[in-house]
Amino acid sequence: MNAHAEQLTIYNSLKGEKEKFVPVNEGFVGLYVCGPTVYSNVHLGNCRSFISFDMVYRYLTHLGYKVRYVRNITDVGHLVGDADEGEDKIARKARLEQLEPMEIVQQYTLDFHSVMDQFNSIPPSIEPTATGHIIEQIEMIKAILDNGFAYESNGSVYFDVEKYNEAHPYGELSGRKIEDLISNTRELDGQDEKRAPLDFALWKNASKEHIMKWPSPWGIGFPGWHLECSAMSTKYLGEQFDIHGGGMDLKFPHHECEIAQGTASNGVSPVRYWMHGNMLTLNGKKMAKSTGNSILPGELFSGDNDIMEKAFDPMVVRFFMMQAHYRSTLDFTSEALVAAEKGYERLMEAMKALNNLKSSGESSQNVKEIIDGFYASMNDDFNAPILVANLFEAVKYINSVNDGKLHITANDLELLKSEMAAFVYDVLGLKSSDAGNNDKLSPVMDLVLDLRQEARTNKDWGTSDKIRDGLAAAGIVVKDGKEGSSWS
Ligand code: ZN
Repeated sequence: MNAHAEQLTIYNSLKGEKEKFVPVNEGFVGLYVCGPTVYSNVHLGNCRSFISFDMVYRYLTHLGYKVRYVRNITDVGHLVGDADEGEDKIARKARLEQLEPMEIVQQYTLDFHSVMDQFNSIPPSIEPTATGHIIEQIEMIKAILDNGFAYESNGSVYFDVEKYNEAHPYGELSGRKIEDLISNTRELDGQDEKRAPLDFALWKNASKEHIMKWPSPWGIGFPGWHLECSAMSTKYLGEQFDIHGGGMDLKFPHHECEIAQGTASNGVSPVRYWMHGNMLTLNGKKMAKSTGNSILPGELFSGDNDIMEKAFDPMVVRFFMMQAHYRSTLDFTSEALVAAEKGYERLMEAMKALNNLKSSGESSQNVKEIIDGFYASMNDDFNAPILVANLFEAVKYINSVNDGKLHITANDLELLKSEMAAFVYDVLGLKSSDAGNNDKLSPVMDLVLDLRQEARTNKDWGTSDKIRDGLAAAGIVVKDGKEGSSWS
């Protein structure tokens, strides 16, 4: 374990305050993040949430924890309108496009993975699907029924919120009081299967036309949306685990229901630290397809949109997201992304310079203190924007050493190199945007520069210039120095 791991604090949404992080099992972290419902292209706002938790996962790993990171795929049970009535989001899309529901699931799971990959997001340790865990969900419903916190009605099973509230507080996470919740819900119309309006579905009886359905002790049906996360987190992380993350919009009712289901079936509150990422706005307004104020990640990367003035590299977008705390709202504008692009390039230039830096004399700055600052920022509830500010203090120092104005010892230089690489690449998840290309180009460029060197040795200036100009036309700049030629 990294010695700094002791100092990690996390803002726990359940308590409304920052707490020292103490895992259930020493050296191990169970991390669950609510994944996407795969019925459309992944939304930029959702990407922000997933990238925030990717950063959390990366930092926990950097601290030396063994992290089991579970992020589900919702491929059934999420009804249009997020409630207990109406059509399944995936089944609806399948009907409209005349496809099998699993074709929809496959298509948008691939889209989601591709976008996450472009953002350099690490895949979770386990990515379970709701349809792959119907048996576990049925078993959990049985346990909740056995414990008296649910009832069967007309082939459906509902969670009895008022009964549960007599034994355990309901509404703790979202800070809602059950009396207020009751008065804010509509009256039951008599046709309803539910006993009370607040009750939510654990299992829904399926009509004949319903496409996605399974047999159960209560008849043919499908699980309620909230249940899958409880069943899968219990299966892979245990009855009580460390961190559960998701977007702010999932706090109520989804996460509130997860707490109730876990407690009602296992007798213990399922999560120690609840973390919620904030939302993203576009030009100061909520993103919404209906108003046209909306952009897909792919459209942002290609520049094929009417909202941004140019295309932005996924790494610039990721860097931009890291400049806001995950609990703050973040506004996407062209100006802000252009500024982020400059910052990102400055950081990457400094990382290159750092690799070629030469040590000399005594260190002009306290390198250990600089690095302690990196840890202090991330240990303060994953404060990435403060980390970025600290990294830029280091960038100034690196550039001054590079210019020969300041000095650094060999030991400090090694330390700075390894910790800068750890925080920029491993923790923030950035990579130089041309890194992949350079890997493939390197052997080719070595060959081309060899040929050019040969031409120069033979005083064949025509060939040498032809190679240089040709490379320039391809956007590659060749610099001739005392120790041979270099390119960028
Ligand atoms: Zn969930």
